Amino acid sequence: MDNNKPETIGDGATVIVKNVMAAFSYNAPDGSSSLLEYWEKASGRKATECAHEICNRQATEGAIATRAFSADKSRYVFPACETCARRTEMLYVKGPLVPLP
Ligand SMILES: [Zn+2]
Repeated sequence: MDNNKPETIGDGATVIVKNVMAAFSYNAPDGSSSLLEYWEKASGRKATECAHEICNRQATEGAIATRAFSADKSRYVFPACETCARRTEMLYVKGPLVPLP
């Protein structure tokens, strides 16, 4: 058990994040066929809507982001539409955000 493993953040709250642009070269963690599926397994939820606060599109992929204004440099996955997964500005996203292993 790794006690330094970051926990899920933003459950029921909004978190300010910035997308990691290299995300599209990441493979899904073991046991998942995609980052979106990984998010679903880890959060225990169905990814329906894009997590971006002002977006209502369907979530189609798992985006990878780090927290803005934070010493926490962990990478987190959130469900996003194609557009929001590629946004370069800071985003307000609805949690939960699931840390990458
Ligand atoms: Zn979106």
